[in-house]
Amino acid sequence: MRITHYALIIAGALVTVAILVIMPSANAAIYQQGVVYVIYEENIIKDKADVNSNAVPDIVEDIATQVNAVREVYKDVFHYPDPLNSERFPNVTSIEIDIADRSAMKVAGSAFSSVRKKSKHDPNQRALHIKLANTVNPHKNPTPAHEYFHLVQYGATYFGNSWYLEGMARWSEDSVSAIKSYPDGKNFAQKFDNKPAQDELFKEKYDAAKSFWYPLAVSRNDRATIPDSLINKYRYVDGSAVFHDNIFYGADVMREVLKAMKSKEELAVAQFEGDKKWTKERRRHERNNVIILECALSVRN
Ligand SMILES: [Zn+2]
Repeated sequence: MRITHYALIIAGALVTVAILVIMPSANAAIYQQGVVYVIYEENIIKDKADVNSNAVPDIVEDIATQVNAVREVYKDVFHYPDPLNSERFPNVTSIEIDIADRSAMKVAGSAFSSVRKKSKHDPNQRALHIKLANTVNPHKNPTPAHEYFHLVQYGATYFGNSWYLEGMARWSEDSVSAIKSYPDGKNFAQKFDNKPAQDELFKEKYDAAKSFWYPLAVSRNDRATIPDSLINKYRYVDGSAVFHDNIFYGADVMREVLKAMKSKEELAVAQFEGDKKWTKERRRHERNNVIILECALSVRN
């Protein structure tokens, strides 16, 4: 682990227009843990606890730890496509997480589907990036894991309809959270074999986790387990475990859904006139909905 401080360079510090005053930005600090870099200004971190006295706020380390923990689960245990090794994002080498003031953000976290061509920790490297609010506490909050899962999704497929994108990312929070009661998966497929039910589902966002993705996982009897070795390995600075339990329903099913979606991309983009590019509009186009649904329902465990 290392910490680097660097001054943000303000180009043209001398501004001749009298009313425009650019204050030099405070020093940004960069904390690295493996491929994850957390970038923050000292004064933005409210909880300054530093139990291990390494001059990095524990909360900054804990954010990186949560992301690395779920990254290892998806990549090495369940063999999901690795966003750092995706043909969509050539030559990216790291994941940068910017911490921003909550008041300047609409939501507490976002993950970007664009590549940062000059990463903040090294302008010669390309990075994927996430933004988190300074209110996100990884001990109570799976937002870092949720945002990392969006990077997995972006690397796996261009489809981006919200009931899938947000619904499945909300499902993924089960990796680090303990879900108290899972919806039962009984009569799951029949529930979605009519158009009104499908149309309702396609309007959902996060709620699709409860109405669709968890029941899908349970209906396929996919009760996956996070190995003890990882549960013991990933701990926050205060010693508490990142993984709240070892149950992770649906880990194999969701990977297969993502793969099925990837295999349907050509067919899906052929629905649109003109070139075959996945523009922002096309990624979320309503014509994708039935294709995504068919992919999900086609997966058996
Ligand atoms: Zn999300």
